[in-house]
Amino acid sequence: MNSLRNKLRSFLWGRYGIDQLYYGLLGLYVVLLLLKMLLDLQVFSVLGSVVLLLALLRALSKNHAARRKENEVFLKLWAPIKTEMILIRDRFRDRKDARYRHCRHCRAILRLPVKKGSHTVVCPKCHKRFSVHIVI
Ligand SMILES: [Zn+2]
Repeated sequence: MNSLRNKLRSFLWGRYGIDQLYYGLLGLYVVLLLLKMLLDLQVFSVLGSVVLLLALLRALSKNHAARRKENEVFLKLWAPIKTEMILIRDRFRDRKDARYRHCRHCRAILRLPVKKGSHTVVCPKCHKRFSVHIVI
């Protein structure tokens, strides 16, 4: 048992491992599996297998610089999507207490208390005033 453990340890030594892109690829794999189940198209199964294989090959790679670069590109592409998903979650969570509006000058997102009617607000980021209309 110790011999097998040592062999596995020596095989994994120096490998890149798991990063955010790995989890992103696993998420894509799950989405592709769900599409395969819903639409019953074999192409999603093949794509899912390719994505899973790519994730495993990345994790077992010894070229750390290349994998790190791929992960940085992924994080740049993923950041706006993640921000939008968090905003959707927060809007749903705070739907009774707050409304979210963009500043007209700097596009900052403001969380405003629910007060029916038109109001003048000051953006905490750019300090400019603008009016908002809140409907309950
Ligand atoms: Zn602003």
